[in-house]
Amino acid sequence: MGEKKKVLVVGAGPVGSLAALYAAQRGDDVEIYELRNDLRDPTTTPLNFTKSINLALSERGINAMRRAGRQDLLDHVMSATIPMRGRMIHGRRPNGDHYEEPQDYDVHGRTIFAVDRGGLNKRLLDILERMPNVKFYFNHKLTGADFRKCKAWFEIQGRGASTESRAMEVEVDFDFMIGADGAHSAVRYHMMKYARMDYQQEYIDTLWCEFQIKPKDGAKSDKPMEKFAISPNHLHIWPGKEFMFIAIPSDDGSFTCTLFAPSAVFGQLELSPSIIPSFFNDRFPGVTALIQPQDLISQFLQNPHLPLINIKCKPYHYAASVVILGDAAHAMVPFYGQGMNAGLEDVRILFEILDKYERIQQAEANDSHGSTSALRATALAEYSAVRVLDAHAINDLALQNYIEMRSSVLSPTYRLRKFLEEF
Ligand code: FAD
Repeated sequence: MGEKKKVLVVGAGPVGSLAALYAAQRGDDVEIYELRNDLRDPTTTPLNFTKSINLALSERGINAMRRAGRQDLLDHVMSATIPMRGRMIHGRRPNGDHYEEPQDYDVHGRTIFAVDRGGLNKRLLDILERMPNVKFYFNHKLTGADFRKCKAWFEIQGRGASTESRAMEVEVDFDFMIGADGAHSAVRYHMMKYARMDYQQEYIDTLWCEFQIKPKDGAKSDKPMEKFAISPNHLHIWPGKEFMFIAIPSDDGSFTCTLFAPSAVFGQLELSPSIIPSFFNDRFPGVTALIQPQDLISQFLQNPHLPLINIKCKPYHYAASVVILGDAAHAMVPFYGQGMNAGLEDVRILFEILDKYERIQQAEANDSHGSTSALRATALAEYSAVRVLDAHAINDLALQNYIEMRSSVLSPTYRLRKFLEEF
């Protein structure tokens, strides 16, 4: 581990980019292979999303960025975030009036933060690009890997390929591969042929679709809060038992919103889009005042209707040659707001363990623990043992939190418990 190695990172999403930064900060030669075009190119459409989505960033993810040892990362990312001190529950009184009820996350006033996922990702790429030991290979799709011989194969995709090299495959050697290629990970798929991996995946019967609340017209520049149509310091929830609508603030005064509902409900709305405004009026009071009925219909029809997957597997590594992180290892439903946060935390924990074994190797004059790769194999085995338990727990909490967010937040027992917790 002490000597310089060639680290291949597959996937330049937030988790792969942070992992590349940690590896590059340690002096390794880092090559990042990404299926899509460079996210910073304005013509690139982010995978699965209509544009960039807003996420809840919490201490788990912030700490992982802090430990990367680059203040220019954290300062930049945090300067574009909006603190959210709690939930704002939207409901209807028996007389039909719409009410808002704030529920703080923390008695000490600590917050989570709304962050633009694309902005965070771009900042990481900007920092990596300036490091002499980092190389990017965009439009490269991992198609195969031999984790005994440490060889990987990538297909050069459409626009990144020259006429001669279109659909050409390249072979790349490596010492260590980090697979951060998302829920449908090719690294995981190829690793399964080597590691005795237990694997479980589940699609829940809920689809999601993104909407947008626009900034308010005519806000004065000296009063920036006036551009927000609803409180910018809350994660807004319209619980609807079987359904849920949420809104997260953005810097420009808009809100990125998400409708979650059973697939059969999406089917009904697709068949009869004209009922969308009354569907919202019945279940999510106040929303049609924020998004005009015609806009609601067109956003529902234009934006994709996407599934939600929950993936658990173990172990996360094979020998000394590969480890999977982020959604590749533990894609989860988004209701706990921890998917990306947990992926960033994977990076911190992995490198803490690798560093620990490197210190042991240095202290014991290289020999007593065997070769560098045997030591890395031990470190990766420890990473899997430690991380699988925690990641599976977060997956379960995320599933449970759907019930809390769409339903329990309305129950008198929940409110009583929260009231008692504060005293
Ligand atoms: P990804 O972001 O999926 O990146 C994987 C990358 O690998 C992609 O760039 C892809 O192009 C590339 N790739 C794929 N296959 C290959 C291949 N064969 N070869 C090369 N490259 C490849 N998380 C939070 O923490 N807080 C939230 O509030 C939150 N809200 C969410 C709301 C919704 C509606 C959804 C769907 C998710 C939410 N998440 C949230 C989860 C979060 O988006 C993911 O956990 C996070 O994006 C995972 O990052 P990643 O880098 O592991 O994977």
